[in-house]
Amino acid sequence: MRELNTKEKIYDAAMKKHGIAAQSMILAEEAGELVQATSKLLRLNDMSRLGEFKEQLAEEIADVQIMIEQVSRYYGITAYMVSKQKFRKLVRLADRLEGAACCSSNG
Ligand SMILES: [Mg+2]
Repeated sequence: MRELNTKEKIYDAAMKKHGIAAQSMILAEEAGELVQATSKLLRLNDMSRLGEFKEQLAEEIADVQIMIEQVSRYYGITAYMVSKQKFRKLVRLADRLEGAACCSSNG
C-alpha cells in the first residue's frame, strides 16, 4: 500500500518538499494556464475540436483546484471560510442581477 494515499498527505508532502513560495508560484502559473485555456475555448473556430479543448479546460481547472487546496491547507483556510465568502458573493451577485433585471426592464 502506498504511503501518500490521501490528498492531504500528498499536499503536505509537496509543501514539505517545495515550500510555500514555490507552491504559491505554481498556483499563479496554473491560474495563468486556466486563463489561457478559457481564452482558447472562446476563440475556437473548428467545432470538431470542442471536446479536446473542453478536456484541456477541465485539466487546468483540476490543476488550479489542487493548488488552491494545497495553499489553503498551508494557511489554514478552511472549506467553511471559503463557503462563507462564496455565499456572501453569490448573494451580492444575485442582488446585482435582480437589480439589473429590475432597472433594465423598467427602462
Ligand atoms: Mg496546468
